[in-house]
Amino acid sequence: MSEAVPGVKLPPQLPALREVIAKYGLNASKALGQNFLFDGQLLTRIAAVPGDLRDAEVLEVGPGPGGLTRALLAAGARVTAIERDRRCIPALAELSEAYPGQLRVIEGDALAIDAPALFAGRPHIVSNLPYNVGTALLVGWLTVDWQPWWQSCTLMFQKEVADRIVASANDDAYGRLAVLSQWRSTARIAMPVHRSAFTPPPKVMSAVVHIMPGEAPEGVEVRVLERITAAAFGQRRKMLRQSLKGVPGALVALERIGVDATRRAETVSVAEFVALAREVG
Ligand code: SAM
Repeated sequence: MSEAVPGVKLPPQLPALREVIAKYGLNASKALGQNFLFDGQLLTRIAAVPGDLRDAEVLEVGPGPGGLTRALLAAGARVTAIERDRRCIPALAELSEAYPGQLRVIEGDALAIDAPALFAGRPHIVSNLPYNVGTALLVGWLTVDWQPWWQSCTLMFQKEVADRIVASANDDAYGRLAVLSQWRSTARIAMPVHRSAFTPPPKVMSAVVHIMPGEAPEGVEVRVLERITAAAFGQRRKMLRQSLKGVPGALVALERIGVDATRRAETVSVAEFVALAREVG
């Protein structure tokens, strides 16, 4: 990186992202969920969502040709990027050369890699996720033992999935994903993103979600909460006394915490699910 004024780093001269795509033949693969972002201003805004990233560690899943990666590097982050598409690796190597010591690229499947083992501290996770694996990755990151190994998550999802992450009881989008996202974290939509911002444009709108971990409620096992929410929302139109029948101790626990067993899962708040999981033990 050049230094015109001593101590002030200028961003390196990089080829336009579209040139990178052409040079390395990175025509978008549907199977890999590839919808690329090229708008530098939008990418800078996304990279700003977690706050000041100077010298912070960041995990990026699916850097592709490196648009979001550039914005993260320019913000001063030290990025570890996991990319499954081998074609992108030489393009990312160029980026790594332009930002010496700031970018580590790992070729592989993010679902199969032990991401926490890659970091000594707690990274921020910032990704324009591949839609086909985004929810599975998020659920994995939410159901680890707490304190979580990550500091915050800033993640692009289809708008419909983002709505399901931040929904409250009685919202149409409320379900298992909302409870898992909110029982010990706060989740908000940081910004909507129009489908036309992507190349190629997906069929649906997107949104960036920001998740911050909070205190884990005492005496609650995530595995129990997962089991209860899976049963309750597996039959979301049924009364709890029916849907929770198969979960040992759940019906007695409902009575003890004062939740009417004739209610349906979609009316039960995150706090009530937490109380239920604590009681079921
Ligand atoms: N970050 C780039 C951007 O914003 O333009 C690309 C985002 S694109 C939506 C998703 C990226 O994730 C693609 O580069 C794709 O190859 C990669 N990908 C898909 N499945 C993956 C997986 N299981 N592990 C790691 N990367 C994956």
